Amino acid sequence: EDKKDTEPENGNVKVVCRFRPVNQNELDRSGEKQICQFSKNKKSVTILRSKNSDGSVSSNKFTFDRVFDTQVTQRKVYEKAAKPIIEGVLKGFNGTVFAYGQTGSGKTHTMQGPDIEDLEQQGIVPRMIRTVFNRINSLDDNVEYTIKVSMAEIYMEKIKDLLNPTKVNLKIKKDKDRGIYVQGLTEQYIASETDVYNIMKVGNAKRTVASTQMNDASSRSHSIFIMNITQNNLDDHSSKSGNLYLVDLAGSEKVAKTNVCGTQLEEAKGINQSLSTLGKVIHALTDKKIKHVPYRDSKLTRILTESLGGNAKTCLIITCSPSSYNELETISTLRFGTAAR
Ligand code: ADP
Ligand code: MG
Repeated sequence: EDKKDTEPENGNVKVVCRFRPVNQNELDRSGEKQICQFSKNKKSVTILRSKNSDGSVSSNKFTFDRVFDTQVTQRKVYEKAAKPIIEGVLKGFNGTVFAYGQTGSGKTHTMQGPDIEDLEQQGIVPRMIRTVFNRINSLDDNVEYTIKVSMAEIYMEKIKDLLNPTKVNLKIKKDKDRGIYVQGLTEQYIASETDVYNIMKVGNAKRTVASTQMNDASSRSHSIFIMNITQNNLDDHSSKSGNLYLVDLAGSEKVAKTNVCGTQLEEAKGINQSLSTLGKVIHALTDKKIKHVPYRDSKLTRILTESLGGNAKTCLIITCSPSSYNELETISTLRFGTAAR
């Protein structure tokens, strides 16, 4: 394959960006144009902005560790953005993948895919799970694997257990042995890929209920899939354990822009709190001059304290619409991504 893909690693934090194909809703709008131009080296995208008052067109170029154009396959995104992270987790390091972008830009498509059991179309979460079980089933080593899965949602800075929705407002605790964890969060032991898919279906269904009852609260909440992989080597009695966090973030659109009052205003603040803190944390991790990493400033970053930075591998995936209709949100999403970098 192309040599550029094998460039040396640039630290443990990567920021990549993906544009979804244009959709019917966008095509139906008059004056609709695609505003993204992809560079040959797959590292930059230029946004052709609408005409200025003097008739000129301004453009903005954004550079990332990798830019995926509208035609990229799910497999390619997995290989470039996520596979190194699950490989780290199997070596006993922690890892995190985030999807950040406006509602409808492809976060869930990228993380889960349209069908988690469709081998072509499945997203990052099921592909990582497949990699784990392929590894376990193919290696003829004397290692005992213990795999636990949890799913949580953060909505207005409150943590809910998606595998047991009676558990709401869970607390974050710190413990000498366990490190930082969500107290009382259900942990399901799993033995196969199918086990995980069944658990994901349960957790996702709980989100969907919320979305119809609460005016699409799901687009305003962060959903977190957590997998702990512990390996005990029965020959030399060594053990290692890695945590994987896969986060489908709340829509990045400015909730504050539209009809905001009461609950929605509180929500907007809460969402922006977690999202802006996340941006600051990732930026602090990539800029060696910044000593203070503000993990404690939001629930999301607090949970992830031990999985962002240090030996942990992190990938932030910025998702965007290619259409002029979403120009302003796309620009602000891309700015968030480059600021994090
Ligand atoms: P989000 O989770 O950011 O709100 P979704 O992932 O639900 O957005 O995507 C919105 C719609 O666009 C869905 O119908 C999804 O299937 C489609 N979509 C998103 N990304 C892609 C892509 N890369 N290829 C094809 N369809 C996509
Ligand atoms: Mg979504």
